[in-house]
Amino acid sequence: MSAAIICPRCGGGDCITPAEEVLESIASMYAACQSCAPDPQISKQLPFHQLDQPFRNVDDAAMRCQNCGKRHLDIVIAHVLKILVREGLRARDAALSNVGTPMITIGYPVPFPPRLGRDMLILVMDAIDKVTAEMLVDEVYEVKGVIERKGEPGQPVGILDADSAPHTYNLLAGCDLRGDVVSSAFGELCIYKTQSDTHIEFSRADSDKTRVLESLYYQRKVKGTVLDGCCGAGTLGLVAVLAGAREVILNDAFLPAVKNTILNIKANASILGLDPEPELHTDPSKLPLIADTGTPRLVATAHGAGASGPIDISVYHGDLADLAEVIDRCDLCMVDAFIGVSTDRFVQAWKERAGMVVTI
Ligand SMILES: [Zn+2]
Ligand SMILES: [Zn+2]
Repeated sequence: MSAAIICPRCGGGDCITPAEEVLESIASMYAACQSCAPDPQISKQLPFHQLDQPFRNVDDAAMRCQNCGKRHLDIVIAHVLKILVREGLRARDAALSNVGTPMITIGYPVPFPPRLGRDMLILVMDAIDKVTAEMLVDEVYEVKGVIERKGEPGQPVGILDADSAPHTYNLLAGCDLRGDVVSSAFGELCIYKTQSDTHIEFSRADSDKTRVLESLYYQRKVKGTVLDGCCGAGTLGLVAVLAGAREVILNDAFLPAVKNTILNIKANASILGLDPEPELHTDPSKLPLIADTGTPRLVATAHGAGASGPIDISVYHGDLADLAEVIDRCDLCMVDAFIGVSTDRFVQAWKERAGMVVTI
């Protein structure tokens, strides 16, 4: 039994479950047990004051299954709405759909309304303050964290490039560490992220990127050294390991992305055939939020026997164009920059050094 992986956000030992354990339990994680009450059938558009009495008076004991201890998502949201109305942050005619965006702590395409237990829900909300956010985390058993949405709807979270200020949401209360199950032709991983400073990828966007990687694989381009140049939480680079890449270099200019990538190497180590602990070369807490221009910093390396041969992983914090000064060659360079951001500079820097440059 290896030691618990410590959450980079809250310092707790309960936020990160090794990926192989997540994948074993995911199919039943959100399912009703035999004792759970049927679907409550609450309309998400009905004004709060028109909901049936039990739904307007939900407290922590209400409508919780005595056997599995879980409640239906809509009951949890009704509980949150009751507190928001009580605190004056939503009008009495607000509906469940006005609460915010619920995110389950392990994202997975659940084909039914999820039943939730302790700390299984993170809310992304507008019109919320810190005091009330703390009440939601304290009073509602299922709520693990509350994130305040900032900026225009659809504005991506993270950095556009090394010269721009980061756009992040605001974690108001609790912890925002959550994971997403990523499925590919090569297998599944669980990719964790500190959600308030990570672009929210609904599973479709994530799987579109995985499809690009699968298509490259069928063209025999995923081999040798693969560079995931704007790696975010590390999804593409780590899926490339599953696809058989021998050496994977992950880079991002945004420090939270680098930290999440290192976390994901640990959480997925046994699936990837890596030694459990990556080796740290630079203390991430000493690095700037956005990498300075100049030489990228090698932050961590990981090695392992792999499933079909040795694997080497390196994680850098730097500008992708600058990284070309450090890395001699790669077979495949993947550039997954934000929509609307010019990737010309990165492609220019890498076209001579990479067997192939793919912008995703
Ligand atoms: Zn945490
Ligand atoms: Zn139950």
